[in-house]
Amino acid sequence: MTADLQPYQMFIAGDWCQAEGGESFASTNPATEEDWAEIPAASEADVNRAVEAARSAFEEGPWPRTSPTERGKKLRQLAELIKPKAEDLGRIETIDTGKLFRETRWQANNVAAMYEFYGGLADKVNGYVPPLAPDQNLMYVTHEPVGVVAAIVPWNTQIQLAANKVGPALAAGNSIIVKASEHASAAMLEFAAIVAELDLPPGTFNVITGHGEPCGRALTAHPQIDRISFTGGIETARRIIPSTANNIAKLSLELGGKSPVVVFDDADLESAVNGVLAGIFGASGQSCAAGSRLLLQEGVYDKMLGMLKERAEAILVGDPLVEATQMGPLATPAQRDRAERIIQQSVDLGARVITGGGRPAGQPKGWYFEPTIIECDDQNLPCVQTELFAPILSVVKFSDEAEAVALANGTEFAFAGGVFTRDSGRGIRMARAIRAGRIWVNTYRRSSVLTPFGGFRNSGYGREAGIDAIRDFTETKGTMIEVSGKPMADPFIMG
Ligand code: NAD
Repeated sequence: MTADLQPYQMFIAGDWCQAEGGESFASTNPATEEDWAEIPAASEADVNRAVEAARSAFEEGPWPRTSPTERGKKLRQLAELIKPKAEDLGRIETIDTGKLFRETRWQANNVAAMYEFYGGLADKVNGYVPPLAPDQNLMYVTHEPVGVVAAIVPWNTQIQLAANKVGPALAAGNSIIVKASEHASAAMLEFAAIVAELDLPPGTFNVITGHGEPCGRALTAHPQIDRISFTGGIETARRIIPSTANNIAKLSLELGGKSPVVVFDDADLESAVNGVLAGIFGASGQSCAAGSRLLLQEGVYDKMLGMLKERAEAILVGDPLVEATQMGPLATPAQRDRAERIIQQSVDLGARVITGGGRPAGQPKGWYFEPTIIECDDQNLPCVQTELFAPILSVVKFSDEAEAVALANGTEFAFAGGVFTRDSGRGIRMARAIRAGRIWVNTYRRSSVLTPFGGFRNSGYGREAGIDAIRDFTETKGTMIEVSGKPMADPFIMG
């Protein structure tokens, strides 16, 4: 490693540390292609150390035994610690991922609000008493922390995505190990430094850094993990699922999407254009909820496509730290190569590139990609079926509502969907018919920690955020008590 890289350390058992063998890797700025930070590469031994620390914090430490109200207060304190650092956190995330600073700064502030929300949930996990007959035993049902949580996060929107795991897990009294993405570890470690100021019991909150292999695999396969909360791609999910056959960890999967935005002839076109642009060019298309398939009704097809082309060509692509920039680079060169390959395959099969399709002129450095629109006559083309995680919009024409529904539900993914129409009945019918975890009607890409988030089918299972999020990090216990005052009867005498 060169001396001018900013060195980072992992946070395990309340201490900052390097990887045991001293291994590290560089983090690269996607806008400049320059390495800027040095990140520890955790080995299996480091993973074991983190899990042992989290396990002993859970079994013997004070956090699970702290009153829920006190835990809630700590999370609200965390929110206060984040607020003055939101700008710095956002800047580091931008340097690490290429995501617009305007957006990462906003998200860092939003993360503070998320911890306020989760702090508020900490003492609202009520149990209940099932209404057994009066002459039966009394049972009460309680919700206890699940144990040691492994949180695996992707690089995009990492601090915010991690908040949906760390917030409810800590609120419920668990200990947690976050495995940062190898493409954006610095921001997660900066966040760990803020958590460190809280002085949580050692081992309660840990951040490890490293690659999927060995770090992610060793963490999710560890026999002492009780709960895995994963956000990332479907192929990684397929590698994690078998591990849970051994450790029986409860698993939730927040995966990718190929979400449709359906625009009917009667839509407010200005509004629909804004919704489509937000859905696919926001975050350079690198979002699980990206509206990457536009289904356009035939009566409005030419007009809307023309409007979109004009707006896409006017997008300011460039340095994500500059306030005026509207679209930054992709996070990795591999994503750009893949996008180029799948566009080429689709064109070979008959797709027509309306605008974009490659690297923008005048950007010799950085993993930039043009805002791209592709017309597709066939819903089965690779660019319509594959999650590209890039600013690439595939457009398919439809004639009526039934066809729109069939197309909308016509991929393996089912994360989100959007509908633009002035007919409120049709908006509601479409919202019912599209099989996905989040539907937007006459808007797109808006969310809040108050609202549950997650997909159907190959977009994953489990929901994050919303009022039930904390339950997902608990176990349910039923306690039955003899109340008659009589001694326990002989079990071999019936009646
Ligand atoms: P990825 O699946 O490549 O990596 C995600 C994380 O998994 C990383 O930390 C990685 O190191 C880790 N990992 C890799 N191999 C592993 C293994 N064998 N065991 C355990 N962990 C392993 O995803 P990515 O490229 O970082 O992110 C993009 C993907 O994430 C897209 O598919 C996107 O749709 C999805 N995503 C989903 C949501 C959501 O809320 N549903 C949000 C953001 C991103």
